[in-house]
Amino acid sequence: MASIFTKIINGEIPCYKIAETEDFFAFLDINPNAKGHTLCIPKQEVDKLFDLDEATYNGLMQFSRRVAKAIEKAVPCNRVGLTVIGLEVPHAHVHLIPLNNMEDSRFIKKETLSPEEFQEIANAIQANF
Ligand code: AMP
Repeated sequence: MASIFTKIINGEIPCYKIAETEDFFAFLDINPNAKGHTLCIPKQEVDKLFDLDEATYNGLMQFSRRVAKAIEKAVPCNRVGLTVIGLEVPHAHVHLIPLNNMEDSRFIKKETLSPEEFQEIANAIQANF
């Protein structure tokens, strides 16, 4: 069965899209640690990050770097942090999180955003990609 992220790539489930290339896709995390929290995924559906073939792994890191630079321009923050967990969704993904303090890096404190706020921040990051 397709992962929830494959369904997002295929447009079967809505998302706040940030960027897409032939092999990669970025969208806002729906339950963000901080405003601008973004997920970068390979279109190829593989559960664990380190099981990706080397080219896809390197490509995902390059794509994530480009998205992180766009986040830095669009979201006021000290820096963008990169985290990989994967305990919830079995489709490799990189979390890019705008950080101002250690709390922002923990998956405990969550930000509540309206649909308008999600869309606004997605547009701002997209415009800088
Ligand atoms: P993890 O697999 O532990 O790295 O966490 C999966 C992440 O995906 C969580 O931060 C969720 O909030 C996020 N997530 C799950 N479903 C969706 C969705 N439909 N759209 C956007 N983000 C999602």
